[in-house]
Amino acid sequence: MVKICCIGAGYVGGPTMAVIALKCPSIEVVVVDISTPRITAWNSDHLPIYEPGLEDVVKECRGRNLFFSNDVEKHVADADIVFVSVNTPTKTQGLGAGKAADLTYWESAARMIADVSKSAKIVVEKSTVPVKTAEAIEKILTHNSKGIDFQILSNPEFLAEGTAIKDLYNPDRVLIGGRETPEGLKAVQALKQVYAHWVPEEKIICTNLWSAELSKLAANAFLAQRISSVNAMSALCEATGADVSQVSHAIGKDTRIGSKFLNASVGFGGSCFQKDILNLVYICECNGLPEVANYWKQVIQINDYQKSRFVNRVVASMFNTVAGKKIGILGFAFKKDTGDTRETPAIDVCRGLLVDKAELRIYDPQVPQAQIEKDLTMVKFDWENPVLVNHVSPVTLNQVSIVENAYEASKDAHGVCILTEWDEFKTLDFQKIYDNMQKPAFIFDGRNVVDPNKLRDIGFIVYSIGKPLDQ
Ligand code: NAD
Repeated sequence: MVKICCIGAGYVGGPTMAVIALKCPSIEVVVVDISTPRITAWNSDHLPIYEPGLEDVVKECRGRNLFFSNDVEKHVADADIVFVSVNTPTKTQGLGAGKAADLTYWESAARMIADVSKSAKIVVEKSTVPVKTAEAIEKILTHNSKGIDFQILSNPEFLAEGTAIKDLYNPDRVLIGGRETPEGLKAVQALKQVYAHWVPEEKIICTNLWSAELSKLAANAFLAQRISSVNAMSALCEATGADVSQVSHAIGKDTRIGSKFLNASVGFGGSCFQKDILNLVYICECNGLPEVANYWKQVIQINDYQKSRFVNRVVASMFNTVAGKKIGILGFAFKKDTGDTRETPAIDVCRGLLVDKAELRIYDPQVPQAQIEKDLTMVKFDWENPVLVNHVSPVTLNQVSIVENAYEASKDAHGVCILTEWDEFKTLDFQKIYDNMQKPAFIFDGRNVVDPNKLRDIGFIVYSIGKPLDQ
C-alpha cells in the first residue's frame, strides 16, 4: 500500500488529502500538523474549516484510509510520498519584509524530513512557494540526510476556498513539475498515478520544476489582476454614469476576454492573492526587473484603493461623518461559503469606519465572534511600509457588537454595508430592514448582490459598486 503523509492540516492540506483518500482507497493518507487543536478538530464532528461537502468526504474516509495526527515525525518517516502544505505568509521583518515569502515553516519541515527519513521519498511542494524553492529544499534534504534519495516535485494547488471540494473533484488541471532526470521523471509518474485515479490524463500537465512553481504565482497574479482591472473600471463607471455590470457583460462576451471573474466588488481578499503577488514583485526585483515588479504592484494598489474608496463613499454619503452612527455590516468572510477572514476587505472597511467613530453591528453566518474581534484589533501589517506599520490600530471594540442575523445588524442603523456575497443576503426582507432603520436609510452594496432599483423603490438610498449613483 502506497503511504502518503501531508505536513500541514490547513485549508489546503485537509481538503486535498481528504479527496485523495476518497478517490484512492488503496492509498493510506495521514495528515499531520504541529497544532494540536487543529488535529483534534479534524478528528471530531467540528472540523476546523467550513467548506461545502468537506464533512461528508471526511466522514466517509476517516479511520478507513484517512488519518489526522500530531505525530508528525512517525508518519513522515513511514511515508513514500510527503506533501508539504504548510503556510508561506509574507515576511514581516528583515530582508524582503513586506514582500518576500516567509519560508521558515517550509525550512523546518524540510529539515525534519531529512532527520527522520530512513527510506527514499518523494517530497511534494503543495504550498505556494517562490520559484526556485525546490533548489533550496534539495540542498537542505541532500546535505542533511545520509545518502537517502529525495525527489522534489512541485504540485501547486489551484482550489478556491468555498468551492474546494468541487474544484478537487473536477480540477481544470493538475500541475506536476519535476527534475528532467530519470529519477525525477519517475517521481513525476508516481504522483501522476495518484491523480490518475480520478483526473483525466489530458488534464494532468507535467513541466519542469520552475515552470510549475512560477505557474502558481502567475495564476494568482492573473486572477487578482482581473479583479483589479474591473474594479478600476468601476471607479470610472461611477464617475461617468456607465454601469460596470453592463460593461463586464459586454466585454466578457469577447471570447478572448471571457466572462468569468469580472465582478466588481469592494476588493479581493483571502490569504493568497496579495501574498503571492507581493512574492512575485519581490522575485522580479531580485531578478533585476523593477518595471515588471511595478506592473504587478499596481494590482494590489488598486485593491487597497478600492477598499478606501468604499469607506470614503460611505462616510461622504452619510453627510461626511459616521461618528456615533450605527452601521450594520453584513458579511465578514473574504468570500461566501467560507469562514476564512484572512485579508478580508471587511477588516479594512470596518477599521476605516471605526476610525471615523461609527458604531458597528456585524453579522456573518460562518465567522465566529472571537475571530472578528481578533481581526479588528490585531496588529495590522502594511506591505508598503513594513518598517513603520507594526502599530496597533486605534480601533476599540467598544464600538463593535457581533449579532446573530442581518435584521439585528440593521436594526436602528443609519446605514448597512454588504461586504460578503452570502446567498442569504439576496433574499432578505428589505422592506422589514428599511422599516427598522433610521431615515434616510443607506445601503452600500460592496458585492453588488442586491438589485439597487428594487431597494430604491422601497425608499433606500443605494450605493452599488460601479453603478449610477443616487442624486
Ligand atoms: P493554513 O495556515 O490553513 O495551514 C497550514 C498548516 O501548516 C497549519 O495548520 C500549521 O500549523 C501547519 N504547519 C506549519 N508548519 C508545520 C510543521 N513544521 N509541521 C507540521 N505542520 C505545520 O494554510 P493554507 O491556507 O492551507 O495554505 C497552505 C499553503 O497552500 C500556502 O502556501 C498557501 O499559499 C497555499 N494555498 C492556499 C490556498 C487557499 O485557498 N488557502 C489555495 C492554494 C494554495
